[in-house]
Amino acid sequence: MTDTAGLLDEARACLGGEPGPLRVGRDPVNLAMVHHWSQALDDHNPAYLDEEFAAATRGHLIAPPGMLQTWTMDAPRDPDALGANDEVMRLLDAAGYTSVVAVNYEHDYLRELQHGERISVRSTAEDLSDEKKTALGPGVFTTVRHEYVTDSGEIIGIGRMRLLKFKPPAKAPDVGVRPQPAIGRDNAFFWDGVEAGELRIQTCGACGLLHHPPQPLCRACGSSDMGYVVASGRGVVYSHVTHHYPPLPGVERPHPVLLVELEEGARLVSEWAPDVSVDNIRIGQQVQVAFTTVPGGALRPTFRPIEEQA
Ligand code: ZN
Repeated sequence: MTDTAGLLDEARACLGGEPGPLRVGRDPVNLAMVHHWSQALDDHNPAYLDEEFAAATRGHLIAPPGMLQTWTMDAPRDPDALGANDEVMRLLDAAGYTSVVAVNYEHDYLRELQHGERISVRSTAEDLSDEKKTALGPGVFTTVRHEYVTDSGEIIGIGRMRLLKFKPPAKAPDVGVRPQPAIGRDNAFFWDGVEAGELRIQTCGACGLLHHPPQPLCRACGSSDMGYVVASGRGVVYSHVTHHYPPLPGVERPHPVLLVELEEGARLVSEWAPDVSVDNIRIGQQVQVAFTTVPGGALRPTFRPIEEQA
């Protein structure tokens, strides 16, 4: 079973299971780490730092109890010897709860630690909630119990860390900014038209032929007497192709590229209006121009389907 409910059931079956091998702290409890901690937290309890005071009161220097987790942080993990808790985390990842945030952490200190003791840890997931809606996304809460033990096997502290494992929200990819068109004397009328909400198509003043894209001379009669007409914006999808790869600046993919035949007769390469599903493009589809904003804020002519009469 690979659906979310099935994976959560599998994870639940691992709760309280075999904690897996002990992870042994890299370094024993030591004064250098205690100094770092005391400075970071501005906690200068002489029982942690003053050997004479500590000897007179505790018999020896002790470690701040709050450092419990410190001694096994970054403890090496054997990837081939995983416990039930690792399996719970693997199953939650597989169910899509791939992000994690600690909610709270309770410590029970069973005795004070002295320098030179080496601490190890073993972990067990104790509980697992149903899926909850949270501000971070849908997620499940689980409590992981950490047992801290000495080399002789004595449990000296217990930590209970409540975690939220959640599905990260799908982020819209940053597609960048659509490049600006190169605008010159021959095509300025077209882009001025876009700004004015008109689809302007170049026309030859001598023979009347429509051209798109604009060009300096008529391809039929060679005249340079070029003007434009304002097209109705209605046409049909003459052909289309969908661009999937590579990424292009300012282009959200999949990106349908249309060849539209306008009712005036000219054809132009354009694109599908971004608010229209890309699934219902078909050759022969009647379309109407729309002027829409592309990533980066520029206006571009796009086409949307005309509702067909029943
Ligand atoms: Zn001409």
